[in-house]
Amino acid sequence: MPRRIIPLADVSAIPDFSGAATSPSGLLTDTLARPLRDLRISVTDRCNFRCVYCMPREVFDKDYQFLPHAALLSFEEIERLARVFVAHGVEKIRLTGGEPLLRKNIEFLIERLALLRTPEGRPLDLTLTTNGSLLARKAKSLKDAGLSRVTVSLDALDDALFRRMNDADFAVADVLNGIETAQAAGLAPIKVNMVVKRGTNDQEIVPMARHFKGSGAVLRFIEYMDVGASNGWNMSEVLPSVQVVERIDAHFPLEPLEAHTAAETAQRWGYRDGSGEIGVISSVTRAFCDSCTRARLSTEGKLYLCLFAVSGHDLRGLIRSGAGDDEVATAIARIWEARGDRYSQLRGSASAPSRDDARRVEMSYIGG
Ligand code: SAM
Ligand code: SF4
Ligand code: SF4
Repeated sequence: MPRRIIPLADVSAIPDFSGAATSPSGLLTDTLARPLRDLRISVTDRCNFRCVYCMPREVFDKDYQFLPHAALLSFEEIERLARVFVAHGVEKIRLTGGEPLLRKNIEFLIERLALLRTPEGRPLDLTLTTNGSLLARKAKSLKDAGLSRVTVSLDALDDALFRRMNDADFAVADVLNGIETAQAAGLAPIKVNMVVKRGTNDQEIVPMARHFKGSGAVLRFIEYMDVGASNGWNMSEVLPSVQVVERIDAHFPLEPLEAHTAAETAQRWGYRDGSGEIGVISSVTRAFCDSCTRARLSTEGKLYLCLFAVSGHDLRGLIRSGAGDDEVATAIARIWEARGDRYSQLRGSASAPSRDDARRVEMSYIGG
């Protein structure tokens, strides 16, 4: 098939699909033998929060240029790309952002994605990560559209501290209400993600554990990461997950649990009294790149192979140039087969991409 004429400015970014076509087999692996199993799709780069570690207000201020609507992948485009990814082996899709519930009619997208089936005929594990601010209003329509579960981010129970951390004056009570409404709507089991920043919210670890213990929600503690180039990350603000476990264990004894799957990013710990479990995600102190099966599709349709990548592959350019599904499948296969990203394993070493590199993508654009 001849290459199509595409705008000059986009030429370098359009992924290659020349040579023999690669039909999806579900068995794609990268240079480190990692399969492609998870896809995170960022549906908007906008957010109604300004979390200090993600979209600091000094950077994401009123003059910040968010993407215009035409730059965003449409729902049709997302569904089309997702279908190809699923044919290549993706079993789990997570919608994220920015704040995904700000994307108008997100339920329509969920309805379409819920109809996709793996090559073996199984439905996808279809989830969404949200800051919870609009969850109480949307939980039922999300469930009705076919969403399997939700993950809600909550960094503190102390209302004043939470308002400072989201820097948009949102109250803890609204997020807790969202979590309860989502549980009642059947979007369970709900995961609650707390990013721990030493010296900012680490005193909330035990109160958060106490609150969610026995609630059915699984609380997960995430080490604060050096993602993007705007949050002024410093290693001294990372509280290693081992210490999170120690602090909780001192109040509520814990025991290690088996991982559900080999690619699970969280280490699981169960309360010895049988009242549920917590998870710790040690992105900084215990890299899990060896089992990273995750690709990320940015708001404007660029495919990123790692959270810490400095460039993406322009799938939007590819499909808007008129490429057929076979060509898209071939391009994705080429990209994944060439993947060797393992930033967290290399962090701090000479071969790691520089932390000061201003091109490093922001979490709100690529999706957490
Ligand atoms: N707005 C939604 C939310 O907050 O859940 C979805 C997008 S947000 C970028 C996804 C996740 O990334 C959230 O759980 C957030 O706490 C986490 N996150 C953002 N910046 C982070 C950082 N520097 N280190 C660790 N986690 C981070
Ligand atoms: Fe928004 Fe989520 Fe980033 Fe907070 S973590 S600023 S809620 S995208
Ligand atoms: Fe995956 Fe990159 Fe994170 Fe490693 S650093 S686990 S390769 S996203």
